Amino acid sequence: MDKALLHKKLPRETADKLAITVMEYCELLAGYTQTQGQMDRRYLTPEHKRTNNKIALLAQESHLHTWQDQAGNQWVRLQANQETNQRIILGSHTDTVPNGGKYDGILGVVAPLVLLKHFADNGVCFDFHVDVVGFGDEEGTRFGATLLGSSAISGKWKSKWRELVDENGVTLAQAMHSFGLDVSKVSEAQIDSNHVLAYLELHIEQGPVLEEKNLPISAVNGIAGARRFAITLEGKAGHAGTVPMGSRQDSLVAASQWIVELNKAAQNTITDEYPVLATVGKLEVYPGGVNVIPGSVGLSLDVRSINDSARDTFITDKLERLECLANAHGLRIELEETHTAQAVSCDTSFTEAMTEVVGLLTGTPLALSSGAGHDAMVLAEIVPTTMLFMRCEGGISHNPKESICTEDVSVSLSALTMFINEKVVI
Ligand SMILES: [Zn+2]
Repeated sequence: MDKALLHKKLPRETADKLAITVMEYCELLAGYTQTQGQMDRRYLTPEHKRTNNKIALLAQESHLHTWQDQAGNQWVRLQANQETNQRIILGSHTDTVPNGGKYDGILGVVAPLVLLKHFADNGVCFDFHVDVVGFGDEEGTRFGATLLGSSAISGKWKSKWRELVDENGVTLAQAMHSFGLDVSKVSEAQIDSNHVLAYLELHIEQGPVLEEKNLPISAVNGIAGARRFAITLEGKAGHAGTVPMGSRQDSLVAASQWIVELNKAAQNTITDEYPVLATVGKLEVYPGGVNVIPGSVGLSLDVRSINDSARDTFITDKLERLECLANAHGLRIELEETHTAQAVSCDTSFTEAMTEVVGLLTGTPLALSSGAGHDAMVLAEIVPTTMLFMRCEGGISHNPKESICTEDVSVSLSALTMFINEKVVI
């Protein structure tokens, strides 16, 4: 079989068969965990090494070229059918959060690996190299800093990261040494973006939208940028029985009113071009007595949108409203911005192409935006990047209950194949 004979989409029975292999590999690699009974695989651990080795072995069974880079990322290559240095890269991360699931990250490594094995076993190759990468760190669960693997290949690695320390006092530099790497050579992991036609990441959705729409997959148009704040409202504590209702400076009442308004305002953006998600996830009430008027309240605010200016306008508006409420209740506000990340757009033409592929396979050409961060955020800064989301049960992720179905994997494999076959052209 050559490229011309390879069906525009994988024959259904082939995709179904390969999907079973993907599920088997995910199950197999779930065994490489540092905490028995849990999915827990962190950067530069023996389990990370065993995972890289297993991916390489599986690839070598089909005579694919494999290597590990200087940041501990595992690579697999289906060589082009001609002399070229152009490549497309498919990948995701191999690390997990503690007590995580079996599919977050690894699905986006294993699914393209199985496809490459199928291509290699059937003598199929393309005018460009097709690479699969398994990034060693995305979650940041060992050293605190996230996206270390993709940062290394994108030239965004920060030399101060060598001093990061894990929970046992091991520095990143020491961990690299134990892994068989040299931290002073991480820059060698950097790729030449001029040679990359596209980066494509398959990832479970980690949210409920696809399940609600009864769809297996969607394209992804971008990754939301987030801003976070720590807010304190300072009022006056007092006796619940002696301070009249008209004389109170109750910080919790103002905070509660604001949270309800904030939620309503975010709900009202659902049908906007750029919806905003706003969350108060933490509330601390002082002094916290049953018979004491709340003197002060600490609350967190997390606001996200695929469009930074939609997000920032929303924040400015809501913080102004908070000030009004604080004045009306006689409260003082303290505000600290604790986190900022810019929104990242996926490559427009590749995302349109992927949306078309999704439409052909499912009847619904849907593109979602991602509220969670991904390696694709980093790659998008240097190469044309897009993603494919796959449904996961209940939208649950970062949890042992994470679950996917083989039928959806089959559709995802067909989508990846169509994208590579038809949408990536030199
Ligand atoms: Zn992930």
